[in-house]
Amino acid sequence: MHVLIVGGGVVGLACAHALAGRGAEVTVCEAGTLGGGSTGRAAGGIRTQFSTRVNVELSLASVPVWESFADDFGVDIDYRRSGYLFLARTEETAAAFRENVAMQTEAGAPSRVLSPAEAAEYLPELRTESFVAATFSAADGVADPHSAVQGYADAVRAAGVDIRTKTPVTDLARVGDGGSDDGSADTAAAAATASDTGGWRAETPDGPLAGVDLPIAPRRRQIAVVEPEGDLPADAPLTIDLDTGAYFRPEREGTAIVGGHFADSDPDVDPDRFDESMDVEWAVEATERADDAAAYFGPETRIRNGWAGLYAVTPDHHAILDEAEPGLVVAAGFSGHGFQHAPATGEAVADLCLGEDACEVDVSALSLDRFESGETLRERNVA
Ligand SMILES: Cc1cc2nc3c(=O)[nH]c(=O)nc-3n(C[C@H](O)[C@H](O)[C@H](O)COP(=O)(O)OP(=O)(O)OC[C@H]3O[C@@H](n4cnc5c(N)ncnc54)[C@H](O)[C@@H]3O)c2cc1C
Repeated sequence: MHVLIVGGGVVGLACAHALAGRGAEVTVCEAGTLGGGSTGRAAGGIRTQFSTRVNVELSLASVPVWESFADDFGVDIDYRRSGYLFLARTEETAAAFRENVAMQTEAGAPSRVLSPAEAAEYLPELRTESFVAATFSAADGVADPHSAVQGYADAVRAAGVDIRTKTPVTDLARVGDGGSDDGSADTAAAAATASDTGGWRAETPDGPLAGVDLPIAPRRRQIAVVEPEGDLPADAPLTIDLDTGAYFRPEREGTAIVGGHFADSDPDVDPDRFDESMDVEWAVEATERADDAAAYFGPETRIRNGWAGLYAVTPDHHAILDEAEPGLVVAAGFSGHGFQHAPATGEAVADLCLGEDACEVDVSALSLDRFESGETLRERNVA
């Protein structure tokens, strides 16, 4: 079996890793550089606190890979298991938190509902008077996406995967039923992927990739790196003020990452021509909102630098993980959680490509046809 993977972000590389590990011949075509897309712009957050079972399970299946990554891949990804703290300002949000935690704990995540006072034990300067409840999971944390790409790339190269950078795939043509002819792939995979019921060959030029219409919008999201006025503990959790959309976490050497999406701050953009720099006005607002949640980001906070990247957003904020056409597997549209879900996604994609059943997560809820059938999902913990 020869699988062509389109895209060398963390998802494509995790797919290559899983497929090569199961004996497939794999080629990765990356238009630019490995990890140069959304992956290199991510905040590195890893959490089990989602509101749908499939997202929680993708996390639970991925966390062990991040935990043992340094040993298994030989690259330190700066994995820090300092938890995620979600904050609720309203009773409505708190009620949703309670439902989420019931589902998360049933799935096996160690999440807990906390009072604001209990939450302050994890984040001492939390403005407890502004909140009615919080949730915390000690299974959550952060890691460095750049290092993860490096680890995956090293491992798949060692496993014989053919990685071609600066190689855009501009079309995929089906070349027959059940096999490759002239070195073309049996299957194509991962910004898009594919399997062996039909062959697919990357071709140039023109036309939508394989003619498959994916309901994914490229949405610009920003991150600021700041020097907080206050002493944000290095082991503070990634904190999300869900009712305002603001989030922050400690970064290295006393700095912090601040992010969030506010009204009009995250428009759909042309993915080939969007502003990759940070808007200072946005950064000021994001920092003020962070300070509104916890008193670390007062007026002496210095905005050091930042960047913008793309969330690949589907209508229900869940990925598409499906064999969209015979031989064409899609793993795309991960919104703000594709980094953390990459390890389990790789296994799910390998199953779809190879017709196996090894992945512990049932990803059928992430089928492409849910948007037509109306069986879409609802993720309430969107950050
Ligand atoms: C600001 C920001 C913060 C984020 N924070 C988090 C977070 O905390 N936690 C988390 O889990 N996720 C986070 N994300 C989301 C995460 O970055 C993505 O979901 C994840 O990186 C998706 O990985 P990918 O491999 O699918 O996509 P990408 O990294 O975008 O990789 C796709 C690759 O495909 C290549 N490509 C596209 N078309 C072609 C073609 N035709 N031929 C060849 N190559 C092609 C691109 O060049 C690109 O390198 C964040 C994203 C942003 C923007």
